[in-house]
Amino acid sequence: MTGNAANDPQNEQNPLLERGVLPPFDRILPEHVVPAVRHILKQEGERFTALEALPAGSEWELVAGLQAIDYEIHRTWGPVGHLLGVRNSPELREAYESVQSEVVDFSLRLGQSEQVHAALQRIRNDSGWSDLSPARQRLIALRLKDAQHSGVGLPEEQRARFNEIARDSSKLYTEFSNHVLDATKAFTLDLTDPGDLEGLPDSAKALAAQSYAQAHPDQQPPATAEAGPWRVTLDLPAYFPFMQHAKKREIREKLHRAYITRASSGDTDNQELIVKILKYRKEQAGLLGFGSWAELSLDSKMADSVADVERLQTELLEASLPAARTELGELEELAAKLGHSGRLQAWDIAFYAERLREERFQFTDEELRAYFPMPRVLDGLFALVQQLFGIRVRAADGEAPIWNDDVRYFVIEEPANTENGSAGDPESWQPIASFYLDPYSRPADKRGGAWMGDCIGRRRTAPGPQGLELPVAYLICNGSPPVGDRPSLLSFREVETLFHEFGHGLQHMLTRVDDADVAGSNGVEWDAVELPSQFMENWCYHRPTLMGMTAHVESGEPMPDDLFERVRDSRSFRAAWQMLRQLNFGLIDMALHHSFDPAGDQSVFELQAEMEERTALIDRLPEDRFLCSFTHIFAGGYSAGYYSYKWAEVLSADAFGAFEEALEKVAAVEAGEGAPSGDSLPNTVVEIGRRFRETVLAQGGSRHPMDVFVDFRGRRPTTEALLRHSGLKSAA
Ligand code: ZN
Repeated sequence: MTGNAANDPQNEQNPLLERGVLPPFDRILPEHVVPAVRHILKQEGERFTALEALPAGSEWELVAGLQAIDYEIHRTWGPVGHLLGVRNSPELREAYESVQSEVVDFSLRLGQSEQVHAALQRIRNDSGWSDLSPARQRLIALRLKDAQHSGVGLPEEQRARFNEIARDSSKLYTEFSNHVLDATKAFTLDLTDPGDLEGLPDSAKALAAQSYAQAHPDQQPPATAEAGPWRVTLDLPAYFPFMQHAKKREIREKLHRAYITRASSGDTDNQELIVKILKYRKEQAGLLGFGSWAELSLDSKMADSVADVERLQTELLEASLPAARTELGELEELAAKLGHSGRLQAWDIAFYAERLREERFQFTDEELRAYFPMPRVLDGLFALVQQLFGIRVRAADGEAPIWNDDVRYFVIEEPANTENGSAGDPESWQPIASFYLDPYSRPADKRGGAWMGDCIGRRRTAPGPQGLELPVAYLICNGSPPVGDRPSLLSFREVETLFHEFGHGLQHMLTRVDDADVAGSNGVEWDAVELPSQFMENWCYHRPTLMGMTAHVESGEPMPDDLFERVRDSRSFRAAWQMLRQLNFGLIDMALHHSFDPAGDQSVFELQAEMEERTALIDRLPEDRFLCSFTHIFAGGYSAGYYSYKWAEVLSADAFGAFEEALEKVAAVEAGEGAPSGDSLPNTVVEIGRRFRETVLAQGGSRHPMDVFVDFRGRRPTTEALLRHSGLKSAA
């Protein structure tokens, strides 16, 4: 550390300024945030001033300096953002908010530097450009685009306005997301009549009783699963089982209405924020010379244009609408048989869908849950990636400071000298990455949903093993926590989520790129980011993989064959309905950010209603305010990018298709010979696994995603595999 601030004894002991191998999460407190961030901004600001003054000819020194700045900021600011998601508190929020605009200012200063922009352009225009590695070309091109999107070259007055908006927007995003968190937390429904829980599985009753007991720690006798009282919240693991199982329709309706009106009134009202955010985005895009925020968004994505996105969405919409109508008809039929009269409402869908699933496939989510104790699932997942990618995952609990006792820590290893395509030395394994796993929901202070975060990215600072910093990932899930002394039992959906996030983690951790800018998921176009994650989900339907991670919590038995078959067959159950739902979100997102005028007469909710005419098959509630909790597009990175899930699913399904083809060939040969190959994956499949590892996972953002995909698949992607997996097209 340099500069005066480092001599300040307070900073010497500030854990956010330490640069050990891992952040000291056990010691980071809200009071460390402000001094650490101010210190690092000052220090890196001085470094930046020096970089701007470098003479022509030192362009690569400048690039290295910029990367060092990014690194330092990320090492201090990254853990703060992370803790905001997993250990939220009023003190931490306040600390975060008081320096947030300074961080935004700093990144604007970096992005808008004329000197840096000129230096990057000199590299771009130099005769040596074509000799640069693809990774280096990409990182320069990406930095140039970033600068353009940050407003470099804007005249003074416009730039001032641009910056004002950027600062304000980041505050609005944080506010939006806090409102959702607070509104979710503010709603509780306490039940004392066992009749209100009729239909619910024991695990949901136990969770509701536990939730009540936590809120009333002194009550005697304490709440129990059988006798209550019970507390339902809008936290997904608590909320969803009620929507699927509660026989009492009024309870479902109450919960549904609360859910879709979150953050739409009182202290946590997001309605005005939405309009402000949309106005800002439109204005910002205009300042940069784009027709809409959507056009700006697509300028750095794999999709070429708004029309390109519209084309895919329409194709999928046309494929799924008729099938979704059939699916709804089946639900109506069953509901009538079970005594329901009148039209099905939004709060009936999950309930009757679950009944239909039980009738058709003869299993319940609960029954499946018993086969997936968390430790067993992890073993199965790790065994799969060991075979596919030649890596080993070692539990390293206790080797890293953690932010909560639930959190686990793992190290990924591969045989020494594996790089460059050689098989490596099986006798000697070396670490190449590590990750934290924060598996369970903690509604009191942890954000819902699941995500992978970048703790530390891979980067090289000097030749040799000492000069290589290894990547570290955060894998955050919100699975059902252990109840009492039972291990956590995952629902099948939670297993898929774990595989999903692990897929993101693999791209972050198995990268072989040494330039931090384009290592791992860095630099990967947003609409291609979900490729490795959704790819991994497919393995949950691969028989040996799935069987390998099941062990019934009481008997220890693996899942019976016929149950597996029913699970596999249920994969496309109501897939058209689900696809329609995703398309609905994507269409609304695109319309809000492209054609919609936030200053016009139409409200966002009217636009939502208009868009839903294309996709909705049941009555919508006029008071539906789901946009008020749509954090993906108003507080996350998915604005004018929600379509990315489907875009990337085309890629991930098609990529998995390569494995399916190989597995089918092996199966055909074995059927001929009558000798199945046993538990391990056949060699042809392993070869494809290695190719996936060396292309998609290893190259990440260092090349254009289409080039990487074609290298893996041998051709451009098609929608065939996605439609087939969704039951919308039969196998050719
Ligand atoms: Zn994802």
